[in-house]
Amino acid sequence: MIRFDGVTKRYGQDAVAVDDLTLEAPTGKITVLVGPSGCGKTTTLRMVNRMIEATSGSITIDGVDTASMDPAQLRRGIGYVIQHGGLFPHHTVERNIATVPLLLGQKKKAALARARELLETVGLPQTLARRYPAQLSGGQQQRVGVARALAADPPVMLMDEPFSAVDPVVRDQLQEEFLRLQGHLGKTILFVTHDIDEAIKLGDQVAVLRVGGRLAQVAPPAELLAHPADDFVAGFVGRDRGYRALSFVTAEVPVHPERTVDIDGEVTTADGWVLVTEGGAPVGWIDAAAHPGRVRREALALGGTLAESGGSLRAALDAALSSPSGRGVILTPEGRVAGTVRAAEVLRAIEVERGASGEVDR
Ligand code: ADP
Ligand code: MG
Repeated sequence: MIRFDGVTKRYGQDAVAVDDLTLEAPTGKITVLVGPSGCGKTTTLRMVNRMIEATSGSITIDGVDTASMDPAQLRRGIGYVIQHGGLFPHHTVERNIATVPLLLGQKKKAALARARELLETVGLPQTLARRYPAQLSGGQQQRVGVARALAADPPVMLMDEPFSAVDPVVRDQLQEEFLRLQGHLGKTILFVTHDIDEAIKLGDQVAVLRVGGRLAQVAPPAELLAHPADDFVAGFVGRDRGYRALSFVTAEVPVHPERTVDIDGEVTTADGWVLVTEGGAPVGWIDAAAHPGRVRREALALGGTLAESGGSLRAALDAALSSPSGRGVILTPEGRVAGTVRAAEVLRAIEVERGASGEVDR
């Protein structure tokens, strides 16, 4: 496990790149750091292998404080992958992959043989071993970068936007292969990206950072989508999440009647979530089992985006996924509650739309 404990990085007097970060990256899992450009992702990653020293706080790996370790020795246990693979242009592919084993004093013949094996591990033919990086495509270079990071079989991998520089189709393939590989390698991985789709696809847990280097939320992907901790996370997750095309697609989705209670009223049923309204407009949900009787404002669960009748499938899905009850609120043009939609039914409508437009499911 990698553990950040109150880690802060300042550049100069007051420029804070990472602000009091406390976070655990569990052993054998992929932890994704995601956030807009400049929010401190790279700084966070490079503090782990001490290419950048923290200003305060501590980082431990399996309980050992990295500050107490010799940096060279620390880095031997950590694979590091960056954009474009970070390959040496004047070295062949096999020599690039064998870099660390050779540094560690492994015999050249054994190191190169292992490098060729690793090519296959990352889905490349051994025939590429003698080429130079410039003779490979972007996606191939990226795979070689992963092979190189794996060469010393480190328990920990740091990956800084490794798939950002390749086109979307290749990125998809790299992501799939990365997941397949991790499925049997089980490394402890810190993976950085600015792409929320990638974060949700790859992460066992996802840590959302905001500019100023503050952790906004850390949660498994499904929870992040369903229960963003605040407006920043909701906006970030919503804005960049997949289904972008759905923003423009409207379709018929069943809207179910929803029982409501006025903010000044009383919850009379004792089961489940009840939608609370004020003047007909939704103001939140109340858990009737936990808070029976008169509605108290402080007991309201907020969260949950609202969608308009006849709006986009994307908005309807967001409403359903972000609602504490799992029921997405649909508004009339006047802003009153028209009823609620179910995620499963929105997804079904999406399937139908996709089928109709001949789009391939990803
Ligand atoms: P990200 O990887 O999320 O884009 P970085 O970790 O690279 O963000 O940078 C975080 C912040 O720290 C940014 O505001 C950046 O300008 C600043 N920063 C990064 N490196 C340095 C440096 N060497 N000196 C001064 N400021 C830096
Ligand atoms: Mg960066």
